[in-house]
Amino acid sequence: MFIRKAAEIVAEESQEEIQNFEGFNLHAALKQNISGLDYTKPTPVQSQSIGPILEGRDVIGLASTGTGKTAAFLIPLIQKIFLNRNQKALIIVPTRELALQINEEFRALSRNMNLYSAFIIGGTSMYRQIQDLRRHPHLVIATPGRLKDLIERKNIYLEDYSHIVLDEVDLMVDIGFVNDVKFFVSLMPKIRQSLFFSATISPRIQDILRSFVTNPVTVSVKKQDTSENVDQDVIRVASSDKKIDQLHDLLIKDGFDKVLIFGRTKHGIEKLNRELEFRGFKVGAIHGNKRQSQRQRVLASFKQNQIQVLLATDVASRGLDIDNVTHVINYDLPQTYDDYIHRIGRTGRAGKTGFALTFVNN
Ligand code: AMP
Repeated sequence: MFIRKAAEIVAEESQEEIQNFEGFNLHAALKQNISGLDYTKPTPVQSQSIGPILEGRDVIGLASTGTGKTAAFLIPLIQKIFLNRNQKALIIVPTRELALQINEEFRALSRNMNLYSAFIIGGTSMYRQIQDLRRHPHLVIATPGRLKDLIERKNIYLEDYSHIVLDEVDLMVDIGFVNDVKFFVSLMPKIRQSLFFSATISPRIQDILRSFVTNPVTVSVKKQDTSENVDQDVIRVASSDKKIDQLHDLLIKDGFDKVLIFGRTKHGIEKLNRELEFRGFKVGAIHGNKRQSQRQRVLASFKQNQIQVLLATDVASRGLDIDNVTHVINYDLPQTYDDYIHRIGRTGRAGKTGFALTFVNN
């Protein structure tokens, strides 16, 4: 484990039927927005989901981040709401960062179509969100905690939402949101369109699924083994007080341009952040104790290459779409193999070889 050469990258032969966005009956403005994002051809999850969603079917999408699943549900939802503006969609996601990412993509895909979205996420002003909800947004993107608060305060009524998306459900269950999700499902209208996206389906998720979807179409995107494109190796820790020096030596090597480092605890991440900053590295950290605005700022500076190193905990980093990460470093070991795969999947994307280095004690 942790050591493996990346497979050589070969152009993927398309086995899916070749389709283009012209093949879907989409409004001209939407098509223009899609090409504005340089999406020339639907990804597999898009070519399989957009049609059924447009037809009103429930969909279970077994697809992880990086497959284009966000646009797979946003494109048909935008088309449907554009045609009937009385419809509303609610998207429930596990983390604030994912909510922000979905909102960005929604705004890009719905340009010039007069559609509005609102956020219901923790860590930002509730007052502002209540104001936004009063303006009757077409799309609401929510994380479970804040959504629950606003339901209890009667600022949002789930009965009003004819389209519901549960995204990255595997993570919601991981962090104990399963009861919240069941509560939300119990408040939703009986007649609705339900879309469900998750990388894996565990028995607990099955439980949610049964009450959520009706006669669904299942779309399974061949689990793109992201680790195929990742060169994996270990760094043996000489002694615990040398570990930081070993990291330092790596970070000054050529090619370590955009490095994502994982630590186990918020406290450990903070300590490492201070130490690397002291040594003159351009570094930032995201973890659960940071304010939302701070997390966003750090993430943006990493995406725009203003900082070289981003430190993160597993939960804070799940699902984030960051391009061109050159190296993932596991400064602390992941807790599970699944976490390991999620971590190293942040590099080696879009046909490039990435590198994953894991510190292990002798
Ligand atoms: P997602 O799996 O939704 O997180 O998307 C992963 C990345 O793929 C995002 O950066 C999207 O902007 C991008 N993407 C989505 N659909 C397409 C497409 N049809 N062509 C090219 N890139 C896409």
